[in-house]
Amino acid sequence: PTSWLVYCRPGFENDALAEMQHHAKQLGVPCESSLGEGWVTLMRLDGEPINDLHRQAAFHKLIFARQSLAALPALTLSRDDRVSAIIKQIKASGWSFEDIWHETPDTNDGKALAGLIKALTKPLQNTLKKRGALRRKAGARRLHIFWTDGDKVQLGMSFPDNRSELVNGIRRLRSPSRAPSRSTLKLEEAWHEFIPRDQWDERLADTMQAADLGAAPGGWTWQLVQRGMYVYAIDNGPMDSELMRTGQIDHLKEDGFIWEPPQRLDWLVCDIVDKPVRVLAMVERWLTRKWCTEAIFNLKLPMKKRWEEVSRCLASLETALSKANVSAEIACRHLYHDREEVTVHVRLKH
Ligand code: SAM
Repeated sequence: PTSWLVYCRPGFENDALAEMQHHAKQLGVPCESSLGEGWVTLMRLDGEPINDLHRQAAFHKLIFARQSLAALPALTLSRDDRVSAIIKQIKASGWSFEDIWHETPDTNDGKALAGLIKALTKPLQNTLKKRGALRRKAGARRLHIFWTDGDKVQLGMSFPDNRSELVNGIRRLRSPSRAPSRSTLKLEEAWHEFIPRDQWDERLADTMQAADLGAAPGGWTWQLVQRGMYVYAIDNGPMDSELMRTGQIDHLKEDGFIWEPPQRLDWLVCDIVDKPVRVLAMVERWLTRKWCTEAIFNLKLPMKKRWEEVSRCLASLETALSKANVSAEIACRHLYHDREEVTVHVRLKH
């Protein structure tokens, strides 16, 4: 494969592209791009395989990519026989894989392809099995058939440890009916994203204390309370009264940028809508003084060049922490439930 295919939230293609180009430049790989709603492809101009770039730009380091694939050239299919052209391209590539996922852009047009995909799933599966391309023990590789239209597909391959394990790269979460706001899902998704499930009991423990800056009406606080934590909820606005009745919350009508915790806490979360640099300065203060050991916060990105802004922010956070001799793991993602914002996770290393 000579292309690198990435899925993203529609409207964020240029950010995903800027991020991909940054990695291509670091490796000195000359590329050209093509983009549609919810996806971006980077193609090597020298005809060399994309694999080095795809591996180097590891999925867990990417911010705007929902999925990352080594891809073949896009195909236009005949509407009478969509299967043959797909089979032919797979055969020519010599690819084998353990699984096939049909995926679409995160658009209404994409969703409308569900019926067509359903009808083609079995025939494709059978033919590819018969030919030995779909088989057991193929290095956990997965074939992604990405449908950008009823007669347009791009075939991509994903590899274990360098991909999203979610269909379309989207984490669907059920909105908890008792949570005070829908933004509750942002914190829940962030935990799924940044904390391995088998560490939840230890890192999201009921013995913990947290601060939630910009907490009202309480969607994020609700998640912390669900984990059994005690929460300092900082916001001038009103908190949900049912949530307050849990007795696990101290609601303080103070400025989250100034407030200092009464003692060291375990968690800091922040969903205040303000300039990224302001939020960062506050978070840096918390982390360098070790007021918490883990933090999750959003950076709001109403500007055009979002990737540039985020990478500047992350670089400044890294510099501030290393200057203060604080060693930490930093991760950042544009989550499915994020809109004009990204979510950052920091964990101090002991
Ligand atoms: N995460 C919340 C939830 O799930 O319900 C929603 C937070 S809302 C997007 C942002 C909140 O930040 C608002 O309630 C606003 O009052 C609060 N806010 C804005 N500036 C603040 C500041 N300087 N200190 C504390 N809260 C602030």
